[in-house]
Amino acid sequence: MDTIGKPPAAKQKKKLNKKRVALVASIALVFSALMFFASANVQQTAAALPKNISLGYFDYQAPTIRYGLMMDTFQVSEHTIEANQFLSEILQEHKMPYQQIDQLVQNAKPVFDVRNLRSGKPYVILNADTTNCADYFIYEPSVYGYVVFDLKNLTVKKVEKPIESRVSTASGVIESSLWNTMVDNGLSYELTSKMEDALAWSIDFHHIQKNDQFKLIYEQHFIDGEPVGVGEIRGAYFKNFDNEYYAFYYENDRYNGFYDLEARPMKKAFLKSPVKYSRISSRYNLRRFHPVLRRTRPHYGTDYAAPRGTPIYAVADGVITKASYTRGNGNYVKIRHDDVYQTQYLHMNGFADGIKPGVHVKQGQTIGYVGSTGLATGPHVCFRFWKNGKQVNHLRENLPPPEPMPEEDIPHFNLIRDSLKVRLDSIEYKIVERAVIEEEATVQQQPETTEGERSDP
Ligand SMILES: [Zn+2]
Repeated sequence: MDTIGKPPAAKQKKKLNKKRVALVASIALVFSALMFFASANVQQTAAALPKNISLGYFDYQAPTIRYGLMMDTFQVSEHTIEANQFLSEILQEHKMPYQQIDQLVQNAKPVFDVRNLRSGKPYVILNADTTNCADYFIYEPSVYGYVVFDLKNLTVKKVEKPIESRVSTASGVIESSLWNTMVDNGLSYELTSKMEDALAWSIDFHHIQKNDQFKLIYEQHFIDGEPVGVGEIRGAYFKNFDNEYYAFYYENDRYNGFYDLEARPMKKAFLKSPVKYSRISSRYNLRRFHPVLRRTRPHYGTDYAAPRGTPIYAVADGVITKASYTRGNGNYVKIRHDDVYQTQYLHMNGFADGIKPGVHVKQGQTIGYVGSTGLATGPHVCFRFWKNGKQVNHLRENLPPPEPMPEEDIPHFNLIRDSLKVRLDSIEYKIVERAVIEEEATVQQQPETTEGERSDP
């Protein structure tokens, strides 16, 4: 367990004070719980009182509190809902009169519909005196919370369990694929996906390779000590080929996002690719040997193969200049971003609603859907990047930087960055031996898609 970064001295002091306050508060809480225990329940459950209680010296057995209740005062029986089992059935078994069950079900309605009990989910019956009706029925539909049915007062309340967030670290060296590496290191899909989100602007995750490395600082969420999910990624490091990337999460009351070592936003003016979850099936190549025409024909774009219907995004803010059809391009869209850059998206199945010339689009906005219209044999988008009227390889361009972080925030960012970087750099790589030696991964060659060699401007 750890805090994020190195807080400045004043903060640290504040934190210490907070700790002290928390300690005092928890002692007070235990004490008042104890007083409650001693006074309220004494007549009813005197037999259940621990023998070694001695208030004067704090020499007592701490009561077990679960569901906000003093468990020691009850007989606790734990069960799971069986198939086709109803609440009324369960409660009748525990000596609850039918009329009261009916009232309880009515009272529950605004909080919890008792028809939603699911077989296999756990429930607990608390009973102070088993010769009488039980005191509580507590249902746990998920790890995130539970529903308390007070069988004496006929009240029902839903309680969300507190989520505890701890800062965790992770690392890995790519052996065969990013996914395998994450699995081998016991890391979740959720974490993989959040790392991709943090770094997607700098790293093309379709083209990571063996020996690429990553390190992460992130928030792991726990409920009752069990991991339940991943919060924010705080810091990320990725070594792709020989390039090193750092991403630091920064937030204040005005904005948030990932920034690099120099406080530049990770988010770029242009998206790396116009489709998510795609792969490059053909690159920009001025001397491509055309598989169908069987001669050298330049390929002025980058082809991203993806299932038909996959959304195609505008890679940057701009104005639509074309949304039309030609024999070679099929359905295509062209966007002017500024005086220098334009982008073009070919072979669309169709356009997104409202996409027509003159319309402003935002970065990441869906402009159309992957298809194979025009000269294309398989569904893909041929992405053309125009610079000063010429088609260039966008993967080789040094594209303009996005809006920088405001000057006045940089000192604060630097503090956070420094502590995260120290922490990231100190993470050691876990080298995990794969239990099963995988066969040499064979690269599946996708059938080439054919298309017109020229894109109509
Ligand atoms: Zn193409």
